[in-house]
Amino acid sequence: MGESNDCVFCKIVDGQIPCYKVFETEELLAFLDIGPLSAGHTLLLPKKHYAAMKELPDSLAGSLGQALPQLAGAVQTVSKSEGVNILQNNGRCAGQEVDHVHIHIIPRFDGDGLGFRWKPTSYDEGQADEICSRFAEITGK
Ligand code: 5GP
Ligand code: ZN
Repeated sequence: MGESNDCVFCKIVDGQIPCYKVFETEELLAFLDIGPLSAGHTLLLPKKHYAAMKELPDSLAGSLGQALPQLAGAVQTVSKSEGVNILQNNGRCAGQEVDHVHIHIIPRFDGDGLGFRWKPTSYDEGQADEICSRFAEITGK
């Protein structure tokens, strides 16, 4: 899982492709998205190649989670934005284009026109209970 030859983010980590770096640790890198949804749109990722969030080892997930609040604050300050969205896509159907796990931090402004098509639904009778029991089989809770 160390590196993938045809992965654009591995190439950025290796320095084969340039980036506008904003933050770096031994395990993590953050840089400006090449196609920003707004100025300051930042990507935070582990340097090691993992395709999806569910594959991350606990310790690396911990490092990622620990870095996120401060970096989100920095993105907001630097971009002088009113808020940020923190977004993480897994799988093509969820909008993932680069199969190297990464977190988007997107500066937001009132009236910027960005946003999800948020279409709330509701559960059928018993459906939520059934889903929770499936969780319980996995989490034991
Ligand atoms: P995804 O859709 O996988 O969640 O997001 C991939 C993001 O990576 C996109 O927002 C895209 O603009 C960004 N991206 C793709 N290639 C490059 C690149 O070569 N450099 C940088 N800085 N960002 C990239
Ligand atoms: Zn990669």
